[in-house]
Amino acid sequence: MAAIDVFWTAVHGAFGLVVGSFLNVVIWRLPRGRSLVHPGSQCPACGAPIGWRDNVPVLAWILLRGRCRRCQARIPARYPLVEALTGGLFVLAALAFPGDRPTSAQVCLFLAALVAVTFIDLDLRLIPDRITKPGLVVFLVLAPFSALHAPGWIAGRPALDAWLHALAGAGVGAGVVLAIRWLGSLALGKEAMGLGDVKLLALIGAVVGPWQALIALVLGSLGGALIGLGLFATGRRRPMDADLKLGGPGGGLHAARVRVDPTGIEVHGAQGTPPAPGADVRVDLTLPARRILEDADARLRFRARVVPPVRAGTVRIEPLPGSLSAEDGARLAMFAGSYKYIPFGPFLALGGAAVALYGERVAHFIAHDYPAWVRGLTAP
Ligand SMILES: [Zn+2]
Repeated sequence: MAAIDVFWTAVHGAFGLVVGSFLNVVIWRLPRGRSLVHPGSQCPACGAPIGWRDNVPVLAWILLRGRCRRCQARIPARYPLVEALTGGLFVLAALAFPGDRPTSAQVCLFLAALVAVTFIDLDLRLIPDRITKPGLVVFLVLAPFSALHAPGWIAGRPALDAWLHALAGAGVGAGVVLAIRWLGSLALGKEAMGLGDVKLLALIGAVVGPWQALIALVLGSLGGALIGLGLFATGRRRPMDADLKLGGPGGGLHAARVRVDPTGIEVHGAQGTPPAPGADVRVDLTLPARRILEDADARLRFRARVVPPVRAGTVRIEPLPGSLSAEDGARLAMFAGSYKYIPFGPFLALGGAAVALYGERVAHFIAHDYPAWVRGLTAP
């Protein structure tokens, strides 16, 4: 056991905070095909450039109380969260590979890619090739410099040994997800996992090798199943943020959360006087850009009828036929669909991070501790 190098661990943490700040830019711009370096950081609301002082990770957000210095628009808490998460993960990498800088550097790069993939998949339900494909190449090339690739398959040829191990990891990772996709399409008649998941587990395999790639998939599936069961048990999907104004005979209201389903819109937490059921109303609905895969928030104006609510405390409206343009109808469907299913990428990423950091311990648990525990249970 090497002693903990406090200085080196702190350097990892500080560097992780800065990388996390950059990942916020990547998460927003990369899937939209924008340049990652130009222009520099901007306020998402007013476009004002953010100076270096207001760009200090986590701290700037706290000092500015989560608002833009110029326009006072709210800056989501997710920005400092991504920074703190990345900083924390880099510290874990420094602690997991003390004194082994080539490995901890590679694992940091890998964890940064996983953070970007996780939040892009949560936002947009896609895993960008622009992360997985170059990542696959980079980690295959760097394999001989990683302590995670020392399987001892070929004596006296460590570099070749590492490359074969990484290549086998990528192959097993891609192969097993492709097999699950194929079985899923036979059993359910629909795709259980996307091609983005295939490339992501190939990338994970290239970093951790074949055996650990399988463990990452099992850990990810367990996490996904638990969350899926939780959502299933709590029943309904939660309403999402949007800005809705509604006016008509006998009232008007304003709300910040809605739930869209195929026939109508459920308005949650409305402020104001809701018009009585049966009334025709004017609706002014702003959908956030990231939920509809567009560059800017979309403002929809249409007419709707107030109908009796399904649940107490909500107002329900249904767009009048023909009042919503085809384009806006598609936007509304995209908004509703953006939370239709649980993305698997974040769970695979979590499994990948766990095995990259604690692979040996997890493998030891599966091979020794767990069987011993089961034997203990069944012993007379
Ligand atoms: Zn601003």
